[in-house]
Amino acid sequence: MKTTLFWHRRDLRFDDNAGLAAALQRDEPVLPLFIYDKEILDKLPKDDARLTFIFDHVEALGKEAHEAGGGLLARHGKVLDVFRQLLKDYDLAAVYTNEDYEPYATERDAAVAKLLQEHGVEFQAFKDQVIFAKDEVLTKNGKPHHVFGAYSKTWQAQLKPEQDFKPHPSKRLFKKENLRRPARGDASRPTLQDLGFERHEQYTPPAKLPPAKVVEHYDKTRDTPALDHGTTRMSVHLRFGTISPRALMQQANELNKKLLNEIIWRDFFMMLLWHHPNTATEAYDPKMRHLPYRHAPNDYQAWCEGRTGVPLVDAGMRQLNQTGYIHNRARIVAAGFLVKQLFIDWTLGEHYFSEKLLDYDMSNNVGNWQWMAGTGAVAAPWFRVYNPDSQQKQYDPDYEYVKKWVPEYGTDKYPSPIVDLKEGRDRALELIRKGRGK
Ligand SMILES: Cc1cc2nc3c(=O)[nH]c(=O)nc-3n(C[C@H](O)[C@H](O)[C@H](O)COP(=O)(O)OP(=O)(O)OC[C@H]3O[C@@H](n4cnc5c(N)ncnc54)[C@H](O)[C@@H]3O)c2cc1C
Repeated sequence: MKTTLFWHRRDLRFDDNAGLAAALQRDEPVLPLFIYDKEILDKLPKDDARLTFIFDHVEALGKEAHEAGGGLLARHGKVLDVFRQLLKDYDLAAVYTNEDYEPYATERDAAVAKLLQEHGVEFQAFKDQVIFAKDEVLTKNGKPHHVFGAYSKTWQAQLKPEQDFKPHPSKRLFKKENLRRPARGDASRPTLQDLGFERHEQYTPPAKLPPAKVVEHYDKTRDTPALDHGTTRMSVHLRFGTISPRALMQQANELNKKLLNEIIWRDFFMMLLWHHPNTATEAYDPKMRHLPYRHAPNDYQAWCEGRTGVPLVDAGMRQLNQTGYIHNRARIVAAGFLVKQLFIDWTLGEHYFSEKLLDYDMSNNVGNWQWMAGTGAVAAPWFRVYNPDSQQKQYDPDYEYVKKWVPEYGTDKYPSPIVDLKEGRDRALELIRKGRGK
């Protein structure tokens, strides 16, 4: 029986899924597929909480597919090896998927497309996780934007909500006559233990749109890290596609333009990374590629562990270490402190966040770290330095957030700052001035 595979990656849902909807409109029955990619998994610690999150969602999809009269195939291995085997196990007509804009993913997909073409199997990838991708938002001169303000303005001007937010009919088409069950003997999926991982659950909000009142008040509450519901907490779901980005954008567009603007950052950073894959590891601004960053392992370790003696930095880093999440304001302050007051290379901070964040997303993480370091595409001049003390006064004046994460704050057990904030700032600016353009 000819089969179309739908390959899930960053879109762990059947509802409003662009590529899945297209697959379900083909003639052949569709079999959803998830690959636990060894190239990615082998680099993760055995208790990585993201694996538990992914595993639970894949299993839930498997159950949902079975109940609908189909099934979901899950394989563990290197992606090309998995496809070589699938070509033997199934009579494939096509493989459909949704686009992924990260450098590793674009190379992997090109290799998969080539392999499938050699076997006469169609491969198609659809835009799903952003509203506008790649070259869809351009300057008047037809060039990709590199300044967020102008990008966001163009993005909003060309938005047609009734078209761009329209849900894809994947759920409606997800029924027995359009689905197929896995081949005999292929119905069981790997367990977490088979994958070599331990269960590690961390809190994530339910995979559904945030309550309307959170969105309505977002512009007033988003900068108060002590509030539990001041922001949407949708980042992990946007990362893994466990909610529809279109549905969230539509809600934001209707209820709170500030939130819409924040989510547009996500499209912006994905567009930037797709155009400039090199910026995953090097400064976007060539003049900022050879800065004389400090080699200061002890300072770096203190930052990682949240014992710098700077309360808002420490609170943020401890929230990150304990929960896999860190409030945006604390991300800004902690990152700013590492790259400016400590003058440590932003790639080290980016790497640490990449290991700990449940919502880790290369484009967002790299884009924001470069923005904080002043090395990025966005208009964040390198001489802007956030002062953690002023940020504390402005965003956590009663130390509510700090006391939640740093219980010993205010006692003699809490260390004094590892750097004088003014001296650190002056040192960074001097070293950037010297290293810039070299
Ligand atoms: C140094 C640093 C590193 C970051 N790393 C990541 C990361 O790896 N993954 C990630 O999703 N976000 C990252 N962010 C952006 C932002 O902090 C998080 O998206 C946000 O805190 C997630 O919480 P939320 O879903 O409640 O956000 P909300 O404030 O409710 O925003 C809703 C959504 O908008 C998007 N968004 C909001 N702010 C930004 C932003 N500054 N840049 C890009 N998108 C944004 C996110 O998708 C977010 O889920 C980083 C920010 C900084 C300063």
